[in-house]
Amino acid sequence: MAMSTHKSRQKGGLFGLLIGDALGVPYEFHRREAIPDPQLIEMTPPDGFRRAHRGVPPGTWSDDGAQALCLLASLLDKGRLELDDFAARLLDWYEKGYLAVDGRVFDVGVQTTVAFRALMGGAAPHLAGPAEERSNGNGSLMRVLPLALWHQGTDEDLVRDAYLQSRVTHGHARSRVCCALYCLWARRTLSSHAAPWDDAVRTLRSLVTPESEEHEALEVHIAPDAAPEGDRLRRRHAPVGAHGREPEVVRGRGSRRRHTRGRHRHHRVRRGGHRGAPGGLRRHPRALAQRASRAGARDPPRGQAPRAKPRPLSRPETGCRPLPRGTARG
Ligand SMILES: [Mg+2]
Repeated sequence: MAMSTHKSRQKGGLFGLLIGDALGVPYEFHRREAIPDPQLIEMTPPDGFRRAHRGVPPGTWSDDGAQALCLLASLLDKGRLELDDFAARLLDWYEKGYLAVDGRVFDVGVQTTVAFRALMGGAAPHLAGPAEERSNGNGSLMRVLPLALWHQGTDEDLVRDAYLQSRVTHGHARSRVCCALYCLWARRTLSSHAAPWDDAVRTLRSLVTPESEEHEALEVHIAPDAAPEGDRLRRRHAPVGAHGREPEVVRGRGSRRRHTRGRHRHHRVRRGGHRGAPGGLRRHPRALAQRASRAGARDPPRGQAPRAKPRPLSRPETGCRPLPRGTARG
């Protein structure tokens, strides 16, 4: 493959990530029935659609894009995956808007926030991400593509680094294995492999230790041989008989996740202060602290951070109820 093609594909992957992320921003947190038809999806949603993140200009990438750029910048500067540097850049994004459009951070995943607080409290980056099953989310997967585009090592090295980059915010095996499989798939797509997905699955199976938590994550929960969830969802929502819908497909593996998906949808921490933020949204802890300080309230005792636990958000504009604690997305 000509170098120019390889470089062009690397650029295409990055631009695709950033543009796709920006395209999706106004449509986040809506029920699937509320999303416009695909041909109507533009950076500016159709008239009458209640866009998410009102006040964020069309074309703005979100946490996905900014964190992916943090990873890319770290890899390019350090020449390897160096977790301390990567974690420091993620915190720079969170606190100062590093690599965010206009320096504004308007949405942070709940698990990511928990991990950032651990980092700020001195946790080692490879231990910062919560590792309980309920702490899974897409936060480390959504940013991992630059690792696959940049990596020159063996597949085993790539898998190890994909696990590591996940650990900074998402330590559970399911999140880590998703990152690894995605990286192997992207690497094969980049090199024009004839069967990139099948070969990525085969390779990861050869690298995962039998009986390990990664093995269980791959075979039981990710289940790469199963039909893509989108297909199963289409069948689920189709009128009975329209596509030969089979009850066992609806009730099969993954149904629990589908049923709980709506409850996960809005469990996000929105950063305070962006124009148009609904008044009921919880402000960022620092913003709360600053406001309290301005109002002459007592500062928290020295050395004690203001109480800053992420809580479910109410999104009255979409008619969705707040989520129970302990569930998360991102
Ligand atoms: Mg995002």
